[in-house]
Amino acid sequence: MGGERLRALMLGPPGSGKGTQGQRLAARHGVPHLSSGELLRAHVRDGTVLGQAAADTLRRGDLIADDLVNRIMLEQVLAPNAIGGFVLDGFPRTVAQATAAYDLARRHGITFHAVVLLEIPPEQLLERLTVRGQLSQRVDDTPATIRHRIDVYLDHTSPLIDYYRQRDVLEQIDGTGTIDEVTAAINSRLDHLLPPPTVP
Ligand code: AMP
Repeated sequence: MGGERLRALMLGPPGSGKGTQGQRLAARHGVPHLSSGELLRAHVRDGTVLGQAAADTLRRGDLIADDLVNRIMLEQVLAPNAIGGFVLDGFPRTVAQATAAYDLARRHGITFHAVVLLEIPPEQLLERLTVRGQLSQRVDDTPATIRHRIDVYLDHTSPLIDYYRQRDVLEQIDGTGTIDEVTAAINSRLDHLLPPPTVP
């Protein structure tokens, strides 16, 4: 059974390690890792109507329309809510999305325990994403698109830092260490808020 499950949001620029750390955090707490980018890429791969509509936007590194992303992500948030927890990764990504998520959460009596902000200087982001681009199949990890995605983050997503700071749920984590160091920093911060379920 177990008690309360973690509800967290990963926030940070592209290349800050949100995906990797979000997966680890979700596994530690036994909750689903809900990545809007993964979900959208799966739609593109599967050639769904949504995927066909979104493909060019994803390739350019621009944001998908709020209404569309809200619809697919809020559905996901409510589905695993049967077990009460999740780690959201890549959503909300605009203040409009955050407001929609907050309204829905309030109606369902749920709030985030923590918003994990991974902080990393822009020069390191470029470096990391360029390396990832050489390894991954992602169409948006090319040098020009990487630069653009960082700008999109600064323009549209970074206002969420203040939004969540004002709500007193922001956990700022130094994202510059090794993967294991960053994981340790996140765990030590979050374990105080909500200890992970004990393994039987
Ligand atoms: P990510 O894997 O989180 O880097 O997302 C990859 C791409 O998916 C982004 O560059 C956007 O085109 C799209 N995307 C992911 N999440 C969102 C979102 N919450 N709102 C709008 N577009 C999104």
